Amino acid sequence: MPLRPVKNFTLSIARTALDWLFPPTCLGCGEEGVFICPECFSKIKLVPRDVCNYCGAYTSKKGKCANCHDRQLPYAGFRAFAFYEGVIRKAIHHLKYQNDLTIGRYLAGLLTMVYQRTNWEADLVVPIPIGEQKRYERGYNQAERLAKPLAELLEIPFTSEALIRINEISSQVGLNHEERRENVREAFVANARLLEGKKVLLVDDVFTSGATMEAAASEVMAAGATRVFCLTVAKVNNLVDLN
Ligand SMILES: [Zn+2]
Ligand SMILES: [Zn+2]
Repeated sequence: MPLRPVKNFTLSIARTALDWLFPPTCLGCGEEGVFICPECFSKIKLVPRDVCNYCGAYTSKKGKCANCHDRQLPYAGFRAFAFYEGVIRKAIHHLKYQNDLTIGRYLAGLLTMVYQRTNWEADLVVPIPIGEQKRYERGYNQAERLAKPLAELLEIPFTSEALIRINEISSQVGLNHEERRENVREAFVANARLLEGKKVLLVDDVFTSGATMEAAASEVMAAGATRVFCLTVAKVNNLVDLN
């Protein structure tokens, strides 16, 4: 599928102005001018295309890995840009903790490249919400900072009101898949009025076990969406440790 040109001119002007006021430095090597310089970019471990459509794991089978084969999953596809390591991991940390609007826009640009290689045709972009307490502490939802510019670049409507998080999810570290599922159960509430009949693109920063996406997608489907697709910047490589 050919890449469509990005039409949102206003956004690119805003980005240029912000970059001029606060020039970014490469998160990998410190070089001035870009978030990730060409050399550091070339070292990013991209998630290959021939991975499982549902969990992003390496698989020799087309579409669904052996792990996902017998699972009923609420979403129709999952894609991530790169593995959660190196400069991408630094970029996610920057997005989460530095309250810098420009990094979200930069990463959203990378997400458009991934999206444009799918055939998803979503008609609504929704960020994975965080709980009130976290939002209060951080001041913003990092997933929203990715999803909003992504929606603008793709010219797809955006809403952060279709899905809210009612239960704080405690740390998932050290839990197995079943425990993680239990941990995120009933964490979300979806708004049927906004979701009914929609093909929804759920956006988050990192995909770890998939339990969060699964719980969110279940709620969105239960609220009447016709399909759900999941897109994240990074995916934890299950071959490495989760921290
Ligand atoms: Zn660099
Ligand atoms: Zn899988």
